[in-house]
Amino acid sequence: MSKFKSYNINQLDKIPQLMLLDHRQMEDIRIVSEIYPFKTNNYVLENLINWTNVPDDPIFRLNFPHKEMLTELHYDQLKWGMRNMDEVSYRNLIHDIRLSLNPHPAGQVDHNTPYFLGEKLEGMQHKYRNTILFFPSHSQTCHAYCTFCFRWPQFVNEPGFKMQAKEIDPLVAYLRANPYISDVLLTGGDPMVMSPRILANYLLPLLEVKSLKVIRIGTKSLSYWPHKFVTDPEKDELLQLLGKVSAAGKHLAIMAHFNHYVEFETAVAQEAIFNLRKIGAEIRTQAPLLRNINNKVRIWSTMWERQVQLGCVPYYMFLPRDTGAQHYFAESLETALHIYRGAVQLTGGLCRTARGPVMSMTTGKVELLDIEDDVYQLRFLQHRNSALAFKTFRARGRNEQPKWFDDLACHDERYREFFADQDDYDRNEVQYGNISLQL
Ligand SMILES: *Cc1c(COP(=O)(O)O)cnc(C)c1O
Ligand code: SF4
Repeated sequence: MSKFKSYNINQLDKIPQLMLLDHRQMEDIRIVSEIYPFKTNNYVLENLINWTNVPDDPIFRLNFPHKEMLTELHYDQLKWGMRNMDEVSYRNLIHDIRLSLNPHPAGQVDHNTPYFLGEKLEGMQHKYRNTILFFPSHSQTCHAYCTFCFRWPQFVNEPGFKMQAKEIDPLVAYLRANPYISDVLLTGGDPMVMSPRILANYLLPLLEVKSLKVIRIGTKSLSYWPHKFVTDPEKDELLQLLGKVSAAGKHLAIMAHFNHYVEFETAVAQEAIFNLRKIGAEIRTQAPLLRNINNKVRIWSTMWERQVQLGCVPYYMFLPRDTGAQHYFAESLETALHIYRGAVQLTGGLCRTARGPVMSMTTGKVELLDIEDDVYQLRFLQHRNSALAFKTFRARGRNEQPKWFDDLACHDERYREFFADQDDYDRNEVQYGNISLQL
């Protein structure tokens, strides 16, 4: 049996494997971790990182911050400030740098919070008609942190950077009042950091809601701590609890985040997948495409093939969001399309359930379909206004190498409505539960 042991930035010296790094690399980790959260654990260190390949190893890049995640200016300011500034000025510098990194892409905190009987339901997001996101207050952390994570502001101690819900009852009431909602997606952080007893408080009341069809749990625990489902003392209790979801006639979807196939090549990860499937859970997989971590055709085709072989269903290939170190992790849209297509073309039909490359933004999730002579063909898979979903539209690049939707401009007036921004929705008070969604 393996015991979970996590390491934060103050425990770097206790990680024996880091003896391999030189003084400069250690300093980089410390400086970048002033801005972004850092956390790793014994399973990742001992099983997922190939230390002969550091610093280029994908899982090392995934877990350990590196210098290029900051601009040179920010890096130098921090390095200087750490030695020369007083505590208060240094804290302010950190705060200002964080604010400059677009900590709330897609309006995570302000937008799409549903209303019920005039009350705002904190810690929930109802953006797309059928699905509501719920952020349990007990899942505001993960078994380790990913360097690229767009949720990074939730893990640092900045007031106003968090969103969380303490109780499930308001959600249950909201679901009963809005029976067209078919899916609840529990997210975080990672809901699988919760003990079965706490998770049960969130999960069991949902099973009583007749109109609810699907419960999804977004998690990276299959990568970062698969022991949760295999050897942890509470694993039987956890599997029994999760088994109740399908026994209650609902679909339980584990939305597993895998960035690289090495994450599910350990025996314990495969046993975790097996144990979840045995209790009736469906495992769907998703990940962003990241430079320095998984930006190769073969990584994706191997990843999808192995996932299908293990009984998982490939779901999304995302592009890294416009926050934090996007400048470091994002490929151009052109490269992303090339990698997605190349990988799909190498795989059998069952792998082709993976949709991508997809950008998740304020107004919706948009899929890049094609690029021809600088004309970008796109479609929203989800849109705030569901009438706009699944219609193709066109854009052109605003610059040489578009990497994100903001780098694209409307191709011609016919497509103007696809480029409306969230502010247009806010001005019209378009909000689920508040007034009906009519534009
Ligand atoms: C991605 C996302 C969903 C789920 O979308 P699906 O296409 O159903 O997977 C729901 N709500 C928000 C806010 C999202 O970002
Ligand atoms: S596990 Fe998910 S939420 Fe946690 S740091 Fe990684 S990407 Fe972010």
